[in-house]
Amino acid sequence: MLSYSDDERIKNRVYASLSRRRTEKQELNTKISLFFVTMFLATTIWMVGCTSTIRKRTDELPGKDRIVLDQLIVHTDFSIPRKHRLLDELTNLRQTIAYKLDLPTSDEPINIYLFENADSYHRYMAVHHPTFPSRRAFFLKSDTTLQVYAYWGERIAEDLRHEVSHGYLHSVIPNLPIWFDEGLAEYFEVPIGFHGRNQSHIDLLNRLYKTGQWKPDLSRLEEMIYADEMAQVDYAESWLWMHFLLEGGGGLPSFATNQVKQLRERGETGSLSRLLVESGITSENALAHLKALTKKPL
Ligand SMILES: [Zn+2]
Repeated sequence: MLSYSDDERIKNRVYASLSRRRTEKQELNTKISLFFVTMFLATTIWMVGCTSTIRKRTDELPGKDRIVLDQLIVHTDFSIPRKHRLLDELTNLRQTIAYKLDLPTSDEPINIYLFENADSYHRYMAVHHPTFPSRRAFFLKSDTTLQVYAYWGERIAEDLRHEVSHGYLHSVIPNLPIWFDEGLAEYFEVPIGFHGRNQSHIDLLNRLYKTGQWKPDLSRLEEMIYADEMAQVDYAESWLWMHFLLEGGGGLPSFATNQVKQLRERGETGSLSRLLVESGITSENALAHLKALTKKPL
């Protein structure tokens, strides 16, 4: 559960969108550096000014408007139509995940704090979670809350599908291995009708495989515990294994849902890599799945 006193490496399972944002990260680091310079100047000015002005700019979550959509509570400071198609999609995702993974649903609220723009989001994160890596969105879980932080930008649909998927999953499964959790979120972040096909991951894995920089190894992913251990390729590979399990045919989907059931009921499962090898499934099969997807058009 989230411990604010030990967030140096976000050890208590901050589930973050760590992938796909390397170039943006540099840009955001610059923004955050500028922000601190701005804050220093603002603080200096405040010495003859007013504290509440500064706190108001940096210290508040969105909360003027509140939209309740089944399990989701969307908090914003700007107006979104209640029948917005993105909100409909996020609401429907609850049943999509439940159906695909043979899971029950929960009524535990998932609070989504949706900032109007990147600046207000990063200002808030820099003040409240200064040691968190720069990301477009976060999912935070504590003993009593499930929270998503994001801002209304060009990739908001993908970001919210990803983070809200974490929310739905964690509301019914007490303990998820990090690769399993991220693999599912990457699977469900693509629009409905894509059957979990994540083209950017297909492209990245092919590129790295052709240059000898990567090959699938589920046992390596299984050793990871914390979100900040995962590089972009690890997100992509986690997605590949999950897509292989859920869409690979044969007995794989029922194998996957059985693992989900064990995680839900017992909070743990055996090593999937070992179980797969015992069933005659190896990394070569995952690679063949990637090749088949590559040949298959969208
Ligand atoms: Zn994630």
